[in-house]
Amino acid sequence: MGWCQILKIQKVLLISFSLEAMVCMATDGAMQVRGGNWQIFEGMLKASGANVLLNTSVFSIQRQPNSTYTLEASFSSEAVAPSNYDTIILAAPLQFADLTLTPPPINPPPKIPYVDLHVTLFTSPRRLAPQAFNLETAEQVPTTVLTVPGASPHKYFSISTIRTLTSPHTGEGEYLYKIFSPRRLSISWIESILLSEPKDAESKGVITWIYEKLWQSYPYLPPRVTFEDIQLDREGKVWYTSGIESFISTMETSSLMGMNVARLIVDGWDGEEGADRVHDMSDLPSLPDVPEIPKIPKIPKIPKVPEVTPVGTQDSSISNDDNEL
Ligand SMILES: Cc1cc2nc3c(=O)[nH]c(=O)nc-3n(C[C@H](O)[C@H](O)[C@H](O)COP(=O)(O)OP(=O)(O)OC[C@H]3O[C@@H](n4cnc5c(N)ncnc54)[C@H](O)[C@@H]3O)c2cc1C
Repeated sequence: MGWCQILKIQKVLLISFSLEAMVCMATDGAMQVRGGNWQIFEGMLKASGANVLLNTSVFSIQRQPNSTYTLEASFSSEAVAPSNYDTIILAAPLQFADLTLTPPPINPPPKIPYVDLHVTLFTSPRRLAPQAFNLETAEQVPTTVLTVPGASPHKYFSISTIRTLTSPHTGEGEYLYKIFSPRRLSISWIESILLSEPKDAESKGVITWIYEKLWQSYPYLPPRVTFEDIQLDREGKVWYTSGIESFISTMETSSLMGMNVARLIVDGWDGEEGADRVHDMSDLPSLPDVPEIPKIPKIPKIPKVPEVTPVGTQDSSISNDDNEL
């Protein structure tokens, strides 16, 4: 039994790590909706008819004696009137949400270490310098370069050449780069990985535009076989979708988590209302009359097949044609 469990655990880990490895490699070739992926989710919200309150931070969720939850929030730092809800879905990592849940979750999601990911986007008229990647001068640097942790002296996880664009200032072609790194990058280091082209040095800057952002992007993925609970209370009124992040962190999987939680909530409502629904039946509009199904005609009896005489018991008086010839 022990070995069986180990094998099962190894299988789970193998499947999850293979999946995660595939996601990690997806730095390039990613697809996006023109104008931003946020439009998909805005579209979903519009279709649902939900009341969306943007820039509103929830700081307290409190259970009331009648089993509803009072939610306190602020809009641009100003408190807004508290509101009551039957069901709460927490769709952000609790450890970063900066809110209090009263009573606290029966099974609080453990704090999980997130990767500090520095994203640096910049433009330059220069291409990446082959020497900076141990390539021959004549070689071209691939559009995506990946490193592994501890591969010193590399300061980055990946460098991608996103696309070429036209500078609005000079009207000339430039490259848009994206670097993922564990720490903030210095300008001099970025310049050191770009090709030094004398003709550019005088007229144009080496880096023409830069944008930096620090993300708590996704959790570290130590081997584990259990994950955060999705139900944070006993009654099935407080739910948590961000537990999926410690398994895999993508828009698709988080959307699936939301769909599953919504299903569980609706199933819970169906269960709660089951008894009431028996009484409510009289209120339901009467169903239209179902036309009578025509009777299926009787199948005629199949005539009996005459019995076959077993071979070898044939009447010996029957002549054998072959013998007569
Ligand atoms: C740098 C980076 C790159 C990524 N690349 C990809 C990719 O290429 N493909 C992909 O599929 N996934 C990618 N991901 C992962 C993806 O962004 C997440 O999996 C996804 O956003 C999770 O969706 P979510 O709605 O659960 O949470 P989030 O998108 O994190 O939304 C949670 C929201 O809750 C809000 N919030 C938090 N606390 C409160 C509060 N107290 N009150 C009110 N609101 C609050 C937050 O402001 C936030 O808007 C990337 C993530 C990062 C950081």
